[in-house]
Amino acid sequence: MRPARRIALIGTDFDGTVFAGGDTMVSAEHYRAFRRQLQHLRGAFGTHWAVVTGRHVSAMPLLLNELLMHGLSPDFMVMEDARIYRRRGSRFRPFWWWNFSIWLRRRRQLARHRERVRATMASIQAEHPTAVSMGGNRMIDLWYEFDADGAAVAVERRLLDQFAGETDFFVFRWGREVCLAPTAGTKGEAVRRLASELGAHRRDVFTIGDGQNDISMLDPVAAGLIACVANAQDEVRVAVERAKGFIASGQHIAGVVEALHFYAQKKA
Ligand SMILES: [Mg+2]
Repeated sequence: MRPARRIALIGTDFDGTVFAGGDTMVSAEHYRAFRRQLQHLRGAFGTHWAVVTGRHVSAMPLLLNELLMHGLSPDFMVMEDARIYRRRGSRFRPFWWWNFSIWLRRRRQLARHRERVRATMASIQAEHPTAVSMGGNRMIDLWYEFDADGAAVAVERRLLDQFAGETDFFVFRWGREVCLAPTAGTKGEAVRRLASELGAHRRDVFTIGDGQNDISMLDPVAAGLIACVANAQDEVRVAVERAKGFIASGQHIAGVVEALHFYAQKKA
């Protein structure tokens, strides 16, 4: 593929987008194709790639490992939706001040809801005594791993009901893990911060995702080249349609390759 169109920044969600998660097998061929696309774009335009995930920063080594298994290495990692880390050699260094401001916002948000979150945790623990609390001192109080999928799904549904329509929290589930994460910063904000760091115009920014917390970066305010994978949630599709973006017919990484191909071949 010879890219015809300049793409300065690629922002991809991780779970459900670059990675299928769970036991879903994805053909290595798709990862090879994505690697080739990145190589061509980097060679032609110095394109940067950011993995933009809602996962907690403690998951970064795991994510990097999974990417490395496919020979992939991003230039930036955005964790917890908005905390930015830049690759320097084999290490990732934080955007100190930016990350600090997100941390501060998160602290204030948690303080506002502390009592309510604690009460919710107490009742989850009472109902699911074998649930393992993963939050610890990590600034996400409510984060559990359950011993059955059913329990995780039930708690996810309950949290979604309980915190429906609120902008201060996102509910996440990966397999048997469920967490209630404060939305101190959005993926859209992080992508805009990265674009300004790279001196990239919004029209040259490509973003793709599948979940609710991706919508802020699948917005013309953050990116000009917007896409979602075939397995995207309904509200994500709606957002991408509204932005006149690209809805891939492939799932996960296959959809990423397809969308990137669509935009890279498109004349500006
Ligand atoms: Mg996702």
